[in-house]
Amino acid sequence: MIPFNEALETIKSFARTHSPERVNLFDALRRTLAEDVFSDISMPPFNKSAMDGFACRKSDLKNQLQVVEEIPAGTIPAKTIGENQCARIMTGAMVPEGADFVIMKEDIEEIASDFVRCTREISKSNICYTGEDVRSGDLVLKKGVVILPAHIAILASVGCANPLVYKLPSVAIISTGDELVEPGEKPGISKIRNSNSYQLMAQNQQLGITPDYLGIIPDDENSVKNILTLALEKYDVTIISGGVSVGDFDFVPKILNQLKVNIRVHGMNVRPGKHLLFGERENHYVFGMPGNPVSSFVQFEVLVKPFLNTLMGKTAEEAFLHLPIEEDYLRKKGDQLVFVPVSLTNQGTVLPLEYHGSAHIHAYSFAQGIMEIPEGISLIKKGETVCVRPL
Ligand code: AMP
Ligand code: MG
Repeated sequence: MIPFNEALETIKSFARTHSPERVNLFDALRRTLAEDVFSDISMPPFNKSAMDGFACRKSDLKNQLQVVEEIPAGTIPAKTIGENQCARIMTGAMVPEGADFVIMKEDIEEIASDFVRCTREISKSNICYTGEDVRSGDLVLKKGVVILPAHIAILASVGCANPLVYKLPSVAIISTGDELVEPGEKPGISKIRNSNSYQLMAQNQQLGITPDYLGIIPDDENSVKNILTLALEKYDVTIISGGVSVGDFDFVPKILNQLKVNIRVHGMNVRPGKHLLFGERENHYVFGMPGNPVSSFVQFEVLVKPFLNTLMGKTAEEAFLHLPIEEDYLRKKGDQLVFVPVSLTNQGTVLPLEYHGSAHIHAYSFAQGIMEIPEGISLIKKGETVCVRPL
């Protein structure tokens, strides 16, 4: 069986970033920018008042000031501020010619109608100057940025109403197994609820992909063949759970061979998830996920996710945490790479969670990360550094 890293490299070598498309800003969240974005204006575009107050000349701060006009946001001041004059101004409004200071409303005493006086020594101008945040022509977002809410605001403010982003893959989710019933049903004797499909849907959604769910397929050659024939034609990526190991009813590898899919990975020296399968046929890809929920969860995180991210143009390296372990970790055999659910303590250490094996998805309900223990290591002493993939 090949090492995990070889499987990962093989899978990554087939990942090609999709072509770009323009989308509405409302649909841009979590997409990856496919172009550099420059600002078409300076920000602020004019000297702007940061406060509700009175705009005047700095040299007149100690004097009684005559109010010559009112400037709401979005209007153009009509007057130039002369000696001992001021304009009542609103936050976000344009500072009038002649004025170089804005006295906060809170620091003003109204003496008579249209006459005011500053009650305090002030040193801050309370003006945001033209171009102080961004200058016209500045690069504001780089190609490759994964768009988050603050980026949406930047795109909106520089007039990029239809950003160019990489296309999303179309993804199909299928579960196989005669033992499966859907979550809304009570499982009869010998049956279990289908959790993988929903977990896989959610893992895709977390990446910004909206997959299609194609249902539960019985362990029957024809049924598996029909659904895979359809999915391979229609979807960029098919993710099928169950039926990939060595049981008498594990038909997926055989059917994929019949459908002329090139199986590039089938089995890796790793736990959980050693039977994972990856195949390709003319720019369509199949992941055969082990049926056990933890195996499926972990292998999605460590293998499928990097593949899908590359399709979507997300090129940033995955971030790993290197932290000390909270307690000794011992395993019987050290002959495999293993992934273990862990939580992170307030002291910044890594605490392995109680874990009964690859059906025990509950262990992951408290997990904040997946710890990697390399092949060849069976004992890790308290305080030694371990590698954790944050969840
Ligand atoms: P398989 O990979 O089909 O041999 O399944 C391995 C184990 O995972 C068996 O105990 C199955 O009952 C269980 N299993 C398979 N598919 C699912 C699923 N969709 N949801 C939850 N458990 C599953
Ligand atoms: Mg099965």
